[in-house]
Amino acid sequence: MKLTEILKKYFSKDQILSNVDVAPYLTSKVSKIVNCIVKIKTIQDWKKLAEFIKTEKLIPGIIGGGSNMVVIKAEHPFYLLNQYRDKKVVSEDKTYVYIKVSSGYNMNALVNETLQLGLSGIEYHLGLPGTVGGAVVMNSKWTKPLAYVGDVVESAEILDLDGNFKTVSADYFNFSYDYSFLQTTKEFLVSVVLKLKKSKKDLVAQRAKSALEYRKQTQPFGVFTAGCFFQNISEELKEKLNLPTTSAGYLIDQCGLKGFSIGDFVVSDKHANFIINRGKGSYQDLEKIIEIIKHKVKHKFGVDLKLEVKLD
Ligand SMILES: Cc1cc2nc3c(=O)[nH]c(=O)nc-3n(C[C@H](O)[C@H](O)[C@H](O)COP(=O)(O)OP(=O)(O)OC[C@H]3O[C@@H](n4cnc5c(N)ncnc54)[C@H](O)[C@@H]3O)c2cc1C
Repeated sequence: MKLTEILKKYFSKDQILSNVDVAPYLTSKVSKIVNCIVKIKTIQDWKKLAEFIKTEKLIPGIIGGGSNMVVIKAEHPFYLLNQYRDKKVVSEDKTYVYIKVSSGYNMNALVNETLQLGLSGIEYHLGLPGTVGGAVVMNSKWTKPLAYVGDVVESAEILDLDGNFKTVSADYFNFSYDYSFLQTTKEFLVSVVLKLKKSKKDLVAQRAKSALEYRKQTQPFGVFTAGCFFQNISEELKEKLNLPTTSAGYLIDQCGLKGFSIGDFVVSDKHANFIINRGKGSYQDLEKIIEIIKHKVKHKFGVDLKLEVKLD
């Protein structure tokens, strides 16, 4: 039986897109035709997915806001588009408010809502594109000052690859720089409970505003990109090589690559770690420009740059 026909046994027709380009769902707008996309909008859809996985033994890939991934090989039989948006306060004490939020919730909307409530914990992520799910799985960060999304995770609900739901605590994620354990297990994040500190509204608003201003000064805006393509290097490597910074953008810039282009992809003049798609960039050209950047940085500094963006 064709995959679309199998999917129709679990999901409604209007949730399933067949033979479809992923470009509209990725901030880089890089085109790739995939078999199917299934839109997940409710907790019932997650339950249907669990049933599907148990019975059909097929594991899809997942796209959140598509702001840190590019689909290149499309090895998954199909993709989920996570549009599950739900949020509620589950408990509070004198110091903290615990908010359960679905993984498809827009991260920037959540930050704005917590600012309105004078809650501290994710204020530095104002302007972070994508979903809460992507932010937790990628352990997205702000560096001035250093703040990870994983810092405020209390617990989470996960769907594993056998189709079972489980509740895990923050420890399960093994959070570190650009990493959570879900990147290894490939399990799905369904929802998360965040622990946010009661604070002064003006204080959190000021922190958020200064982070957003810095973001606007240093990052290209209104362009097609998947953000920083490469991870920064470690403090140890920086010391060993006697470099002034851990920034991957600095290394790329020092190789004279700002403005360098392959096809429709160009290294941003504003921030050399951002590769911008001028419109019709193909995934083949993206692979080429990534290889050239890695090669030049290796040649000049002896550093093997690691990708931050997930190539799926
Ligand atoms: C302009 C711009 C600025 C950015 N600024 C920052 C920044 O300041 N700091 C930073 O750290 N990053 C930054 N990023 C990168 C990106 O926005 C973040 O990593 C973001 O949190 C990713 O969320 P997303 O929903 O878009 O994830 P996606 O790109 O959709 O997914 C990323 C990965 O997580 C997986 N995934 C997504 N949702 C789930 C889920 N529910 N369950 C399991 N796996 C899942 C995907 O399969 C993929 O492998 C920026 C990107 C852009 C374009």
